[in-house]
Amino acid sequence: MYIGFGYDVHKFKKGRKLFLGGVEIAAPKGLDGHSDADVLIHALMDALLGAAGLNDIGHFFPNNDPQYKNISSLKLLETVCKELKNLKFKINNADITVIAQEPKIYPHIDKMKINISKALKLNKARIAIKATTNEKMGFIGRGEGIAALAVVTIKK
Ligand SMILES: [Zn+2]
Repeated sequence: MYIGFGYDVHKFKKGRKLFLGGVEIAAPKGLDGHSDADVLIHALMDALLGAAGLNDIGHFFPNNDPQYKNISSLKLLETVCKELKNLKFKINNADITVIAQEPKIYPHIDKMKINISKALKLNKARIAIKATTNEKMGFIGRGEGIAALAVVTIKK
């Protein structure tokens, strides 16, 4: 059994759509980034790659590569999943926390789990997604961005 941990943060930018867990969420601003800036999936991918002892997502999907411009991070997650399967790893479970002052994440969690379950071909019951605010403290509390943390276990 191998454990992986991932962390990511993106700042808000006007005129961008907000994607979290592959769900487009109605919000005044989206997150800035080269891809769709899905911070939740980025943290998850880093956790998966870390568990397998691989390099981070910046290595696999460089942010100056035009093929990844505005790409759905769910597609990148599928690639990471294939990478692990090629190495004979089997994903066991994922536990993800999103830290956002706004918008409300809770109503979208089930859809996020379905998206991730499909991308990883992993039973939805093995995927946990929790959301918390930052109690109005710091950059997240001021609504400047969203952070996500993920822990995964994989087996060989
Ligand atoms: Zn990211």
